[in-house]
Amino acid sequence: MELIELHHISFQKRKIRLFMKREDLIHPIISGNKWRKLKYNILKAQEEKQDTLLTFGGSHSNHIAAVAGAGQKYGFKTIGIIRGERIEPLNPTLTYASEQGMQLHFVSRAIYREKKSKAFLQSLVERYEKFYLIPEGGSNRLAVKGCAEIIADLYTNIDFPIQYICSSVGTGGTLAGLITGCKKGEKILGFSALKGGFLKEEVGQLLENNISYNDWELIEDYHFGGYAKFTTTLIDFINNFKKQFNIPLDPIYTGKLCYGIFDLIEKEYFKNGANIIAIHTGGLQGIKGFNKRFSNIIDV
Ligand SMILES: *Cc1c(COP(=O)(O)O)cnc(C)c1O
Repeated sequence: MELIELHHISFQKRKIRLFMKREDLIHPIISGNKWRKLKYNILKAQEEKQDTLLTFGGSHSNHIAAVAGAGQKYGFKTIGIIRGERIEPLNPTLTYASEQGMQLHFVSRAIYREKKSKAFLQSLVERYEKFYLIPEGGSNRLAVKGCAEIIADLYTNIDFPIQYICSSVGTGGTLAGLITGCKKGEKILGFSALKGGFLKEEVGQLLENNISYNDWELIEDYHFGGYAKFTTTLIDFINNFKKQFNIPLDPIYTGKLCYGIFDLIEKEYFKNGANIIAIHTGGLQGIKGFNKRFSNIIDV
């Protein structure tokens, strides 16, 4: 996928080069890291001759939209276990999912929290019988394998060394993939889109024990108050970024990532002469619903 250099006077002074890997261009909905995470899961489901994919997510989830779209494209029925009650009319994400044929199954937040419990899984098996289960956010070992390919793909576009690869972090699957795929000399920076939590442990669990090299850091200063929280500073940044570079960012993940990278460049976190890659993980489908809720604050 396309790699674009972002030019800015403050970078040039310090011979820093910043590139954006446009994973958002893979597909408008089955995009970015969500496609990378689904790829090997879909192959596995095909191998197992499964005909239904079942997964979990919030009502604006990029993952839910991607699974619905991929199911339609690759000939699977899809079931989405959605957190919270059904609200009519459905928001743009769930409207899309439903149009792709996804069966939406709403559960209370209390029940949703138990989604990994044996009892809840048993109730799903009783209701839907046979399905291929994809965890929330799509993050499992096969997802990590798919995300590791982001790095291999990167090197088909460039022939110079990279010192930093930066990505937004939600459940940690993408970060684990980048860590798995990276080479000596590269540092992986994960910018958390949520506040606190157990991300470090979760990334650790997703990593294979046998990775030979890993230099990574979780940066937790740019969540803007927590998951899906935002400030006018963030929204202004996203709108200016679009004007300046003609690249749309989403307010949940990639906007926070890019704000963080620019701020760290300003604060001289990166060495002079560094080549930095920002992964655009997609998530643009969420802007429509976000703008509906917050009176079109993001320019499209
Ligand atoms: C889901 C998502 C993330 C987070 O990915 P994880 O693998 O869950 O950490 C980052 N960016 C975008 C755009 C996403 O949709």
